Amino acid sequence: MSDTGANQDDEPISSEHRPVACWLTDMDGVLVHEQRAIPGAAEFIAALQRSGLRFLVLTNNSIFTARDLRARLLASGIDVPEDCIWTSALATAQFLAEQSPGASVYVIGETGLTTALHEAGFVMTETDPDYVVLGETRTYSFEAITKAIRYLERGSRFIATNPDATGPSAEGSLPATGSVAALITRATGLEPYYVGKPNPLMMRSALNRIHAHSETTVMVGDRMDTDVIAGIEAGLRTFLVLTGSTSVERISRFPYRPSQIVDSVADLVDLVERWAPS
Ligand SMILES: [Mg+2]
Repeated sequence: MSDTGANQDDEPISSEHRPVACWLTDMDGVLVHEQRAIPGAAEFIAALQRSGLRFLVLTNNSIFTARDLRARLLASGIDVPEDCIWTSALATAQFLAEQSPGASVYVIGETGLTTALHEAGFVMTETDPDYVVLGETRTYSFEAITKAIRYLERGSRFIATNPDATGPSAEGSLPATGSVAALITRATGLEPYYVGKPNPLMMRSALNRIHAHSETTVMVGDRMDTDVIAGIEAGLRTFLVLTGSTSVERISRFPYRPSQIVDSVADLVDLVERWAPS
């Protein structure tokens, strides 16, 4: 099979044969479970670092800054540079900076989100904010939610970092951003615009961040309904790993499929080395 690069009218170039220049990878369920490294994850990241290929670790988690996440990953034995981590908080701040630079925001969230918004030039206010920005927190307060509802009633626009309804913990599910957004939606009748996965905006902002092109980038993830669909919609080649929340039996239930299924990132180390520029 040859890849001539010719692009005749009826002969689209198959992305399967393009060289891979950039990698995006999900974090939870792909590199770590809670705080424990998944076997092969440290080697996979080390191979990416050696390869000279550009890569980003993506997460919908908006609680932590990239620096915090680097420290947490390092504690699990995975060495990811801070600037190779892309969170839904960073994507949200970048989206707002493009849409409405210098706008005022009322934030419900942790340092991951407040730091990202500050660094993108936003002013936090409790007086007629242009936006209510909701992220994940472990300390939701009735007072803060009440304020958010009243700002929205008075015309603020509603943005949320990610639609996840629950997050994992050792003891069981934790209510996540999507659940609190649902509460605010019920009170106001207003739906937020969600920036994180499965919105392909999260992938596109990540591509822009590392100057990547969709046709030469792969996305690695453990969920069909977020990682794989967002990857497909952003035009990426997708790898599904089975170390997270998707079992092999469930894959066929979805009306779309990943480009390739592998047991874990341990199976991708060879590919990274094969695709590294020589
Ligand atoms: Mg995941």
